[in-house]
Amino acid sequence: MQERPFSDISYEEFLNEEKLMGSKCKKCGALSVPPRPICIKCYGNEMDWVEMKGKGKLAAFTSIAVGPPFMIEEGYDREHHYCSGVVGLEEGVRIVARIEGVDTSMPETIKIGTPLTVQFLHRGEGEKMRTFLAFKPL
Ligand SMILES: [Zn+2]
Repeated sequence: MQERPFSDISYEEFLNEEKLMGSKCKKCGALSVPPRPICIKCYGNEMDWVEMKGKGKLAAFTSIAVGPPFMIEEGYDREHHYCSGVVGLEEGVRIVARIEGVDTSMPETIKIGTPLTVQFLHRGEGEKMRTFLAFKPL
């Protein structure tokens, strides 16, 4: 795995393979998801790939009414909001992801601290395939 550069492109390739990968600094052990070639803590530039278990808790969320075009194609609009959240992974990293399986029409039912598990949403085919990171309640 080491041969892949620590870039957004590699990160997206791994998402296509249903792996949530981050970089871990060889020097200080700091984790980054998505991966970064340079450590955010010690500026070291030697990294290892690590796979996240894909478990975490909801740390924050927003209900989004006007999404990017691919979300509008999926039927989300001003009446059908989708939920974007910050997930605190078990590994201690926070990432932004789409939150599935929650009722955005009743945001008061969405609870901070809800245990979540990762989901990989594949869209498009072949060369155009993209995978979006999402989480849903356990
Ligand atoms: Zn470091």
